Amino acid sequence: MEKLLCDIPASRLKSYQLAGRQQKPEGTIVGVQGIEIGGDQFVVMAGPCAVESYDQLVATAKIVQSSGATILRGGAFKPRSSPFAFQGMEEEGLKILWEARKITGLPVVTEVMDTRQVELVNDYTDIFQIGSRNMQNFPLLKEISKADKPVLFKRGLGATLDEYLQASEYILQGNEKVILCERGIRTFETSTRNTLDLNAIPMLKHLSHLPVIVDPSHGTGHRWMVGPMARAAMAAGADGILVEVHHNPEEALCDGHQSLHPEEFERMMHDLQVIGEAIGKKILIPEKETA
Ligand code: PEP
Ligand code: MN
Repeated sequence: MEKLLCDIPASRLKSYQLAGRQQKPEGTIVGVQGIEIGGDQFVVMAGPCAVESYDQLVATAKIVQSSGATILRGGAFKPRSSPFAFQGMEEEGLKILWEARKITGLPVVTEVMDTRQVELVNDYTDIFQIGSRNMQNFPLLKEISKADKPVLFKRGLGATLDEYLQASEYILQGNEKVILCERGIRTFETSTRNTLDLNAIPMLKHLSHLPVIVDPSHGTGHRWMVGPMARAAMAAGADGILVEVHHNPEEALCDGHQSLHPEEFERMMHDLQVIGEAIGKKILIPEKETA
C-alpha cells in the first residue's frame, strides 16, 4: 500500500514539487496592483471576450467597475476554432486595453498565445492569460516562467487535474505567481459548451496552494447559466471568477451568447455578495452615484 500524506498519495505529491499544498499549507496569495488573489477577497475579473473597439472596451470597463469588478479582461489575440472567425485586434487591441486601464485604473488580464507575443503582451498587461488550448504548450509555459507578472493559467479542455498541475510546474520553475482557472472540460454532454467541473475547485485547493478562479462563461456557454454557476463556484471555495460581460452582447464579435448584459452582471454581483457574507469572502460593490 502506498503511503498517504494528508490523503494524497506520496507519488502524486512528488510530481507537484512546486504546486503541491505541502509547499505552502497556508495557501498562496497572488498580488496585482494592490489586489490580493487567494485571500479573503472574492476577485471578479470581467469584460468582453475580445477587445473590439475603444468605445466598446471603455464602455464595458466602466460598467463592470461600477458593479464591483476589480480586474478588466479582454482578448486581443483570440484562439478561434475557425480561421475565418474574428481573430482579435492584436497589437491595436492591446493598446486599447491599456487605455481602458488608464481611464478606469483597473489592472488588465489578456491572453498570450505564442512565445513570439510574450514581449509585446508584457508591455500592455498586468496578468498574462494562458488559454485552455495552450495548457500543454510547454515552450510557451517555459517562456512565461521567465516573466515577473502573474499568470492566469487555464485548465486544458481535455486535461485531468494531474496533467494540469504538472503543467503548472513549468511556469512555477521561474514564476511563482500562478493563478489556476477551471473553465469547463469536454464531456459527452452537448447541451452546454463545456461541463464546468465544480469538483476541480475543492480538489485543486486540496492538492495545491495556488489560488483558484472559475470561468462560468466558457464553462457553460449560456448567458443565463453564468450567474448560477458563479454562485456555485463561490460556494465551493473559488477565490474569484473570470466572466464575460459586453455593453451590447447582441452585437459582440465573439461569444456574445455567453456574455452578460450590464444589468445581469450587476444582479449577479449582488447575489455573490450575499453568499460571500455567509462564507467569509468579500466583494465590495461601489455605491451608485446619485444624479
Ligand atoms: C478566453 O477566456 O477568452 C478563452 C478563450 O478561454 P479558454 O482558453 O478557456 O477557451
Ligand atoms: Mn470567450
